[in-house]
Amino acid sequence: MHRNRWLLLGAMTLAFFFSPALSPAAVPEKTGPIRAQAPTAAEAKAFVDAAEAKLLELAVEASRAGWVQSTYITDDTEILAAKANERAINAGVEYAKQAVRFDKMKLPDDVARKLLLLKNGLTLAAPSNPKESEEVTRIAAAMEGEYGKGKYCPQKDKCLDLEDISKIMAESRDPAQLLDVWRGWHSIAIQMRPQYQRFVELANKGARELGFKDTGALWRSKYDMPPGDFAAELDRLWEQVRPLYVSLHAYVRWKLREKYGDVVPANGPLPAHLLGNMWAQTWDNIYPLVAPQSADPGYDLTQILKSRKTDAVQMVKYGEGFFSSLGFDPLPKTFWQRSMFTKPKDREVVCHASAWDIDYVDDLRIKMCIDITAEDFVTIHHELGHNYYQRAYNAQPPLFRDSANDGFHEAIGDTVALSVTPEYLVKLGLLSSAPDASKDIGLLLQKALEKVAFLPFGLLIDQWRWKVFSGEITPADYNKAWWALRLKYQGVAAPIARKDEDFDPGAKYHVPAGVPYTRYFLADILQFQFHRALTKTAGCTGPLNRCSIYGNAAAGKRLQDTLAMGQSRPWPDALDALTGQRQMDATAIRDYFAPLQKWLDEQNKGKPVGW
Ligand SMILES: [Zn+2]
Repeated sequence: MHRNRWLLLGAMTLAFFFSPALSPAAVPEKTGPIRAQAPTAAEAKAFVDAAEAKLLELAVEASRAGWVQSTYITDDTEILAAKANERAINAGVEYAKQAVRFDKMKLPDDVARKLLLLKNGLTLAAPSNPKESEEVTRIAAAMEGEYGKGKYCPQKDKCLDLEDISKIMAESRDPAQLLDVWRGWHSIAIQMRPQYQRFVELANKGARELGFKDTGALWRSKYDMPPGDFAAELDRLWEQVRPLYVSLHAYVRWKLREKYGDVVPANGPLPAHLLGNMWAQTWDNIYPLVAPQSADPGYDLTQILKSRKTDAVQMVKYGEGFFSSLGFDPLPKTFWQRSMFTKPKDREVVCHASAWDIDYVDDLRIKMCIDITAEDFVTIHHELGHNYYQRAYNAQPPLFRDSANDGFHEAIGDTVALSVTPEYLVKLGLLSSAPDASKDIGLLLQKALEKVAFLPFGLLIDQWRWKVFSGEITPADYNKAWWALRLKYQGVAAPIARKDEDFDPGAKYHVPAGVPYTRYFLADILQFQFHRALTKTAGCTGPLNRCSIYGNAAAGKRLQDTLAMGQSRPWPDALDALTGQRQMDATAIRDYFAPLQKWLDEQNKGKPVGW
């Protein structure tokens, strides 16, 4: 499912392996003893070259093992994949620690940048004390495991996993049932609370050994600017988009109040269980409850694809055709031989859509269980965005084979998906004519429930974690502070009283799994900035939601040139190449939804706004 991509990393990169599932086993051999006298520039270069070659080798091995694990789940393939990951991750930790000895040296730009990436590429720095290193990696794996196995059992012999619960959250319109599963899922996290507290202590210890103030500072250090400046950038972006969110929030609140009555307050926060999603992070599942009158777009892409007997390969061919129209080379033959497009009948697989670059050169693949639906049609364009990015930067040195910052990889796929407009479907011959502009409000509202509703959630997860890592939020206040942030940013409140002993942040995958979340906020902002710039390059003057870059060589060239930079340069250089701007800019998402904002403000007239 498309929205499920928030749960996992969609693209595999070297940085992927600096993820938290560390293990104490298989500490790599050191590349040389740490010496007392100052190292030379030549030694720094030799160190970087060796690190890069070794990490690439280990990453390729881990991708191969990961691919087999995801497409053929057995106890054996899980163990083999975990082992390969351990080797790659431990090497990453070791190189990060050794890289510190070249600090403050005058070095060529590329060597200095690679050392920087080695040091701040980690998301979890295990402490050097082997006992503590083992403990923190064990806790990280245990919390992720507990989350993955989490079940709510309303009756003794009837248990619901997250997939079952998500379906209820999406489809049920019974407030009592929604409240029941909301409460049930949040109860799985309570036991993680002491583990999380210990995890924070140990992770911070490791971060300090690498010279960072705490783990939050390590996470904020990846953005080519001082950590404090980056935090201020996020505040600035949020202030740009907040008025749009507040209008959407007010509209959804009175529509839900029409449906559910007093359980939804007239002017307070939205209750978290009525928005179609466990975390109230995207609201598109409740579109039917808030849909405008007579704004049906008038076509159903799913029905069109099905009536034409489109198969999975043809679905992917449409996606490839989009990129070919921009001037990108066709996908390699191995892509068609090695990808997984449909769910096999004879074995367990991970169906969650993802894009892979097994050898970090041209062994591109996607792994999906494609359904012939409009949603998967868009998802394919998104996943292929990752693949074309991966191939575009394959001429860079291995450490630069990643997106300009971690928001870019997800944003590129979504940028392309924004070009899947009715006009594009007409060009493909899937639609005979595009609906007129009077249908735009329905299309825009549906998209806003996904993309605008997500923004405050995308921001607040790490606002909470940064404060937890810095100690500003103490363990006693974990839950209280969580709900204070959800109220402040989302205007959402828990549907029932929460206790200080609860651990509601742990009910969201990325917290127990230790995956930073700010990248999703950035991707949500950046994709509209990219879309605005590229459609302008393509000469589109219509409303942004009707502009597609399909078939435009100039936009394609601009995209290709940016993707080819990988992370060889600080991300503002890549942003400049793509958009002519050096700052992230949320006015693009405002522009895109401008017609909707106007409509929402009309609907909200005389109604309370804000919380
Ligand atoms: Zn993705």
